Amino acid sequence: MSQFGDIGVTEAQLDLLTAAERFCREQSPMSSVRALIETDLGYDADVWAEIGALGWLAIAVPEDFGGVGLSMTEVVPVMEQMGRYMLHSPFFATTLAAQAIVMGGTQAQKETHLAAIAGGAAATVALSEAGGNWDLTAISSTALMTDSGYRLSGEKTFVQDLEAARTIIISAKVDGAVQLFCLDADTIPAKAIRRERIIDDIKRSYALTLDGLVVPDTALMDGGKVTQTLEHIHLVANLLGAAEMTGAAQATIDYTVDYLKTRKQFGKLIGSFQALKHPTVDAYIDYEKSRSLLYAAAFSFGDQWPQNDKRSEIATRMAKAQSDKALSYAADRSIQFHGGFGFTYDCDAQLYRRRAIFNASQYGDAHYHKKKLAQLIL
Ligand SMILES: Cc1cc2nc3c(=O)[nH]c(=O)nc-3n(C[C@H](O)[C@H](O)[C@H](O)COP(=O)(O)OP(=O)(O)OC[C@H]3O[C@@H](n4cnc5c(N)ncnc54)[C@H](O)[C@@H]3O)c2cc1C
Repeated sequence: MSQFGDIGVTEAQLDLLTAAERFCREQSPMSSVRALIETDLGYDADVWAEIGALGWLAIAVPEDFGGVGLSMTEVVPVMEQMGRYMLHSPFFATTLAAQAIVMGGTQAQKETHLAAIAGGAAATVALSEAGGNWDLTAISSTALMTDSGYRLSGEKTFVQDLEAARTIIISAKVDGAVQLFCLDADTIPAKAIRRERIIDDIKRSYALTLDGLVVPDTALMDGGKVTQTLEHIHLVANLLGAAEMTGAAQATIDYTVDYLKTRKQFGKLIGSFQALKHPTVDAYIDYEKSRSLLYAAAFSFGDQWPQNDKRSEIATRMAKAQSDKALSYAADRSIQFHGGFGFTYDCDAQLYRRRAIFNASQYGDAHYHKKKLAQLIL
């Protein structure tokens, strides 16, 4: 068996791609994206409710727990279209939390929390800490067992869409070993939550102070599956990040080409100049590579478990590295091609560039994944 992911598409993937493209195009015009930047929550509650009603949170949740029983393969086209139209909602954070519970939750946690998520409830994960180490086991938060439950201490960062979440997965060390806790987010006091200012204005990220938080024993997830669960979350996050950036790269190129075909300078359309044409072609080639690697990663994603071969990991890291490159380059060129436009903030090109910078900072940038790939492939 080749160590690289096979490329292919499933029928369900194609159906979801069509539905998601239409939904995101209709629900997320750039005027709405811009308007939501100014709100606290950062997303449209009605659109989020519709996403729940469409069953997109249930796609990769097993049928036993109210889900559709498909896999991350089928979640990818939905995330790709959300990235393309910059439709922000707690979809990414919720999918990560759901996958954490699928992989490492107890039976009771699956019955309670997965069923709620499949029904449309938001969730999130609190795994990163100051410095944003991409190794999810490199944490210093602790949980001390007491008579009344586990007393947590430490601080989490980059907890996405925490304000919306009803379930939260938190990592902390118990007796030196990393453990995961799954709890109702409404048990967290408001004063423990602080919104973070991040480069991507469209997304919402929070710091969470754990000091003094006591969680019941029942919040502890399956201790025997922590490593496997963290590896799974890492790959899911990178797969979804790659999908979001691939969609955004497509949008950036479309948006830039439209401008090159309408803006005139020196009596000519600026798109007729080779200095703009050639980098645009380069950007498009990078995007095509990104999409091919994304769908290869999506198609072989389920191969990671239970065979535990490395195909899924290799394909996912390749997709994330390439999508980072593709979006970064396309958005960077877009900013420069819009030169003389006016204030940079008024130009949507900066939104794509900020998305590239933020997504690269989450769960690994191109350089990080290439280093990991060298160890896996060479
Ligand atoms: C010929 C020409 C004329 C131009 N005329 C104008 C003009 O009249 N008015 C105008 O507004 N622009 C103009 N520009 C565009 C302006 O030069 C670019 O928008 C600016 O250079 C963007 O910075 P950058 O290239 O370093 O992009 P990047 O580093 O890719 O940054 C892109 C955006 O991301 C954000 N960003 C990047 N890094 C950080 C960070 N570490 N922390 C926080 N935010 C960050 C900033 O908002 C930035 O605008 C012109 C460009 C050209 C080529």
